[in-house]
Amino acid sequence: MDSVTRQDQLRYLSQQSKVSVLIIGAGINGIAAFRDLALQRVDVLMVDKGDFCSGTSSASSHMIHGGIRYLENGELRLVREAVQERNRLLQLAPHYVKPLPTMIPIFNWQSGIWKSAAKFLGLNGLLSFPADLRLAQSGGKGHQRGGVMVKLGLMLYELWNSPPIVTTARMPNHRFQLRASSLKQFPELSPDIVATAIYYDAVVLSPERLAVELVIETERMSQNATAINYLSVVGMADSSSTVILHDEVSGQQFQIQPELVINATGPWIDLTNRKLNQPTDFIGGSKGSHLVLDHPQLRVATGEHAIFFENDDGRVVLLLPYFDYVIVGTTDIRVDQPEVYCTQEEITYLLEMIGRVFPHIEVKPSQILYTFSGVRPLPTDSSKQSTGQISRDHQNKIVEQTEYSFPIFNLVGGKWTTFRAFAEQVTNQALKFLGQRRCCDTRDLVIGGGRDYPFTDWEHWIATVAENYQVDPKIVKKLFDRYGTVAKAVIKHMSEPLLSRPSQWGKSELNDLDPVGQTKPLDNAADYYVGEVRFIAEQEKVVFVEDFIRRRSNLAMLGQDTPQLRAELTEIMADLLSP
Ligand SMILES: Cc1cc2nc3c(=O)[nH]c(=O)nc-3n(C[C@H](O)[C@H](O)[C@H](O)COP(=O)(O)OP(=O)(O)OC[C@H]3O[C@@H](n4cnc5c(N)ncnc54)[C@H](O)[C@@H]3O)c2cc1C
Repeated sequence: MDSVTRQDQLRYLSQQSKVSVLIIGAGINGIAAFRDLALQRVDVLMVDKGDFCSGTSSASSHMIHGGIRYLENGELRLVREAVQERNRLLQLAPHYVKPLPTMIPIFNWQSGIWKSAAKFLGLNGLLSFPADLRLAQSGGKGHQRGGVMVKLGLMLYELWNSPPIVTTARMPNHRFQLRASSLKQFPELSPDIVATAIYYDAVVLSPERLAVELVIETERMSQNATAINYLSVVGMADSSSTVILHDEVSGQQFQIQPELVINATGPWIDLTNRKLNQPTDFIGGSKGSHLVLDHPQLRVATGEHAIFFENDDGRVVLLLPYFDYVIVGTTDIRVDQPEVYCTQEEITYLLEMIGRVFPHIEVKPSQILYTFSGVRPLPTDSSKQSTGQISRDHQNKIVEQTEYSFPIFNLVGGKWTTFRAFAEQVTNQALKFLGQRRCCDTRDLVIGGGRDYPFTDWEHWIATVAENYQVDPKIVKKLFDRYGTVAKAVIKHMSEPLLSRPSQWGKSELNDLDPVGQTKPLDNAADYYVGEVRFIAEQEKVVFVEDFIRRRSNLAMLGQDTPQLRAELTEIMADLLSP
């Protein structure tokens, strides 16, 4: 499987002057639009100023969910769509999207009824709720939903849980456990609870891998699709319809005339439009941060459940099992710049929140393995009291075509979960503008390593691949967990001796490795293998070692990003990096 290099693509770009659609931004929304347009045989170029999926899309809470909380804001359309997309992804990307039992601790039965009803009806702020306020002042549980509200919410949530026509996935329905059995299952849980509710959503543990897989696969499926990372839109040329692109690696500039621009730059949307000489005020960003905690006691306390609750002011807190660790998030703070980091204040807040549900578990700052932050590209909405009330739905805000320039579709908002549906809507609008018809549907299109996925007989799949390629089944299992059925291609690559391919080595020290060196574990990340790293570097548009550490693997989030690992990876990938 020979892949086109970034240099090949830049050379090709330098010979092009026009493209039908230019997508600026390769977060999940840009990538999904790229895929759908390419499948319709539209000539499309996608660029990102950084690596693929390096903006907000790499900072999510990792939930693929309907968003039960949005019911309260009356966002029924969004919840319905998101539940259906969640079920679809469980079926179409089973190697990355897994069912997630989620637990809501319930501290009383009644509270939140009036407040939720008012929010649902859009009356929040017009009415006062003495009972809720009293609770907030006395027990600090004023904003938590009582059992009655949680029950109603979950019943509504599950109304849309029927599987889409093309899939068979259906999540189990929710159940309630009273106090005694809840504490038996979660012994560290606060004794103040009256019950717990368990319902099902989904989790994506490697969202960046899913996003990159969509990019790679799209380019393979379509001759008209080009995706280039580290290529920024920096401005307009004198001619009002020519966009200037800047290669962040070499400094070289390129020019392109698109018929249509899709601005998928998330929290950078307004900044990008300024560069296109079309000032807008679409985005009212909200920052969210997460911590990854190395805390065995907390990991045991959560079990395989996500734990989801609201603090006193209505902000949502999530504890998510993540391999041997626990992710805790998130904050929700208005910001007006897209580049953010996790502050000490946020760390203090998030650690304090853990004590609300697990009062006897102490987390020390030294147990923080990693932090990450991103900005939700929410629409500007000054009418809402808190960021939590601003709609999480997606919308395509169109800057109309003028006599001299192209129209700009701006992809505002949107959940990770709904990327396919959002892209479908945007693609339909783009096709209308271009005067083309839809020829391919993404609703039942399996993604990458989800193809021919052995849902039930995966052990047989692993044994067969191990035998065919004479590789230890334990290695095959690890790679299957990481790449789904794409693991077979990785293993095939690993089973080819390095020495049989001398022309690909360049000046790398790898010349010294023995022929079976491909299955050698890394010295500084023993779960990964030399041949695996080389496969990814060769096939997945890795420009810098950091791309591998942060977005082609989970190594950064697992706290393994060390200078020693970087040095080792540099050596292994030196001849394959694609600057
Ligand atoms: C804290 C937090 C938690 C979340 N949790 C969830 C969740 O659990 N589940 C869920 O479904 N959703 C979640 N979301 C929402 C979801 O992550 C985002 O809505 C989604 O990732 C937005 O993607 P995007 O493609 O629009 O933007 P981005 O991912 O930000 O992509 C924009 C891209 O544009 C690029 N760019 C910017 N300027 C330029 C330029 N001039 N030239 C070229 N490229 C440029 C950037 O480098 C970036 O890669 C969460 C969001 C946050 C912030």
